[in-house]
Amino acid sequence: MITHEILQENLEKIQSAMSESAKRAGRKVHDIRLMAVTKLKSVDVIQSLINLGIKHIGENYPDETIQKIQVFQEAPNDVVLHMIGHCQSRKIKIVADYFDSFQSLDRLEIGLKLNSILEKKNKKMPVFLELNTGEELTKKGWLLKGTSLSSSFLRDLEQLQKCSQLDIQGLMTLPPFTENAEENRYYFANLRHVLEDLNTHYGMHLTELSMGTSIDYCPAIEEGATFIRIGTILVGPRV
Ligand SMILES: *Cc1c(COP(=O)(O)O)cnc(C)c1O
Repeated sequence: MITHEILQENLEKIQSAMSESAKRAGRKVHDIRLMAVTKLKSVDVIQSLINLGIKHIGENYPDETIQKIQVFQEAPNDVVLHMIGHCQSRKIKIVADYFDSFQSLDRLEIGLKLNSILEKKNKKMPVFLELNTGEELTKKGWLLKGTSLSSSFLRDLEQLQKCSQLDIQGLMTLPPFTENAEENRYYFANLRHVLEDLNTHYGMHLTELSMGTSIDYCPAIEEGATFIRIGTILVGPRV
C-alpha cells in the first residue's frame, strides 16, 4: 500500500505544478480545486488523504463507495464526496443518499430520477453536466461536436433546469486517452467555450469546469478548469 509519506510527496508535486500552470494562465491557484479520485483504493488511503487536508474526493462506483462509506461519514464536514462515474439508473438512490455532489450527470433520465428521489429527501445537490467532447462512441455524456450544442442537449437542458433539487453548477468532461497532454487542450478549450455560450445565450450561471486528470491537468488548468480530478499520480495506479 502507498504510504502517507509518498502520498504527501505526490501531493506536494501536484500542488506545485498546479501553481505553475495557474501562474502561466494568470489565474489564482485557489480557484482550482484538486479532487482526489479514490476508486478501487482502500479506506486507509482515503483517510490519509483526508489527514493531508484533501477536501474533494471522487468515487466512480456507488456499490464500492457504500463499502467504504464510514471513512466519508467520519470525515470533517467540509470534505465533499463527488460521484464522477457513469451511474446505472437503479444505483442513483445511493448517489442521492450518500454523495454530496454529482459531477457525471450524463443523460436526462438519470437527472430526472435523481431529482425525484431528492425531492422526497428534501435535499439539493450540485450537479455537473457531462459532455462527450471527443465524440467517442465508448464514452457517456451529451455529444459535443466542436463547440456546437446539439438540439437534443438543449432540449434535455430545458427539462433539467426545471428540476428543483438539482443545482446545475457546471460542466464536466473526460477527453480521449492520450500520452500527449497537449492534444487535449483543444477539448478543454471547447468545454470552456460551451460554458460561456450557455451563460451568455441560454441564461445560465455556470461557474465550474471539471476537467483534467493525471495526464493532462496542466493544460486543463490553463484552459480554465475549476476542478481537476487526479487519481494515478496521487494514489498510484489502479491494479
Ligand atoms: C478514474 C477517473 C479519473 C482519474 O484518472 P487518473 O488518470 O487516474 O488521474 C478522473 N476522472 C474520471 C471521470 C475518472 O473515472
